[in-house]
Amino acid sequence: MVNTYSRFSTKKTPQSEAIPGSDQVENSAGGYAYSIGIWKQLDRFLILGTEGGTYYTGSQELTRENAENVIACIKEDGVRAVNTIVLISKDGRAPKNDPAIFALALAISVGDVATRRKASASITQVCRTGTHIMHFAKYAEQFRGWGRVLKDGVGQWFTSKDAEKLAYQAVKYQARDGWSLKDLLILSHPKPILPGQADVFDWIMGREDNEALTIPVIQGQTYAHQATSNVEVADVVREYGLPHEALPTEYKWTKEVATALTEQGMPIGALVRNLGNLTKAGVLDNLEIRGQVIETLHNETAISKSRIHPIQVLSAMLTYGTGQGFRGKNTWEPVPQIVDALDDAFYLAFGNVEKTDKRVMVALDVSGSMGFLDIAGVPGLTPRTGSAAMALVTMKASPNYDVIAFTGGGRYRYGAGSQGADDVTSLSLSPRMRLDTVVKEISELPFGGTDCALPMIHALKKGKKIDTFVIYTDNETWAGSIHPSQALKEYRAKSGIDARLVVVGMTSTDFSIADPNDAGMLDVVGFDTATPQLITDFSAGKF
Ligand code: CA
Repeated sequence: MVNTYSRFSTKKTPQSEAIPGSDQVENSAGGYAYSIGIWKQLDRFLILGTEGGTYYTGSQELTRENAENVIACIKEDGVRAVNTIVLISKDGRAPKNDPAIFALALAISVGDVATRRKASASITQVCRTGTHIMHFAKYAEQFRGWGRVLKDGVGQWFTSKDAEKLAYQAVKYQARDGWSLKDLLILSHPKPILPGQADVFDWIMGREDNEALTIPVIQGQTYAHQATSNVEVADVVREYGLPHEALPTEYKWTKEVATALTEQGMPIGALVRNLGNLTKAGVLDNLEIRGQVIETLHNETAISKSRIHPIQVLSAMLTYGTGQGFRGKNTWEPVPQIVDALDDAFYLAFGNVEKTDKRVMVALDVSGSMGFLDIAGVPGLTPRTGSAAMALVTMKASPNYDVIAFTGGGRYRYGAGSQGADDVTSLSLSPRMRLDTVVKEISELPFGGTDCALPMIHALKKGKKIDTFVIYTDNETWAGSIHPSQALKEYRAKSGIDARLVVVGMTSTDFSIADPNDAGMLDVVGFDTATPQLITDFSAGKF
């Protein structure tokens, strides 16, 4: 006869129930996890966004939940919310700037007076390009009208740039999503404060008989649109330093024009996005130019200054490597040396991550929910493949690593090679492997149910000595008979190692498997460029 009291334990609780005495909440998969609280969810939103939704929640619903969370942060401490938005945006920590722009538009709309002023004064830091400011205006109009504080902030976007910088933005980004810089000038009606600004304002308004026509990019754009051959447009590009956005589409990616654009040095973001176009046009057949492009992709300072996000590099690499553009119309023969250079650029985009000699277990959740929906709008980049790419940076910084993939619940198993597969798969991944190979290898593993306690259980069973477990997951754990936080405590007790756990959250939800009351467990956000250094510091016991 089983004693009824012997079945109740705070050390071992099935994931389908909350740990007794804890304040765990139900996750979307029907399991129980901890709530990360409104501020950490704000971080996740700003970095991961909600574009693709999750396996469990559509993007509309996920956006609504996160917008409500942003509002909750603004109500609790609006200035802190704006500071968080600015910090993540201006350091380029997120693959996309849109969540930050959206959150800032909320702050300038629903915040108290101090918050609205702070948000207004931060517009120029968050909205760095013409596209950004047009998106901001679009979002702000979803929440409010054009009052003083909004007009001042948008007006400052125009008046903070000298005539040449403003002209460059105006030539590059004339209209986006039904908004133009002209509309914004009319609505914000700023008073010019720097020399030449009044003329550029006039030019944006369509009054062309003024001094602005002598500013090189404006003059050049006029000539480019009057030109009637590739060679003529290429000459104009060389003479006036025009960005590709300012050129007539029919000439832009011809060999002559694309060569001129590459020789004069495109901004890294534009370069990386257009490698397919350059290859197709034959620009990279010229070894000197190819060498110049490779050198740019290896230029640490230029990469850091460009704020290009590693996910943008990875996305470019995956697309470029297939030799086929987004809609399949455009095709090219990828140059292997360029793919290698993109691989290096991915690591450089994280900046310098210090090394640690700690024993680290990198554990990838490859359950079914991790394999759906695109991250940051990148086709084919799922939380599952994206987390593998992120994990390589941690492996590089922690040479003493062990890497596994886990998925629980055998009967839910599906996908390639699922017959007889174990819950835990040891992976032969190394940061020396190329990213596209790693992504492919992860894509080919079978899918299954979710049990985030498996890494700790596995380490204990195999007698592996681990200082830090790093688990990449959406925290939708449900299938195990013990909670991950309890499994970690058991690992500590039985191994004698005061092991730590870093949970790398891969979706914009409120859940975590990390116990917030245990200083040895940390939540970080996947795709945050600051994450690899945070993992290393936490492993090393720096906080
Ligand atoms: Ca799952």
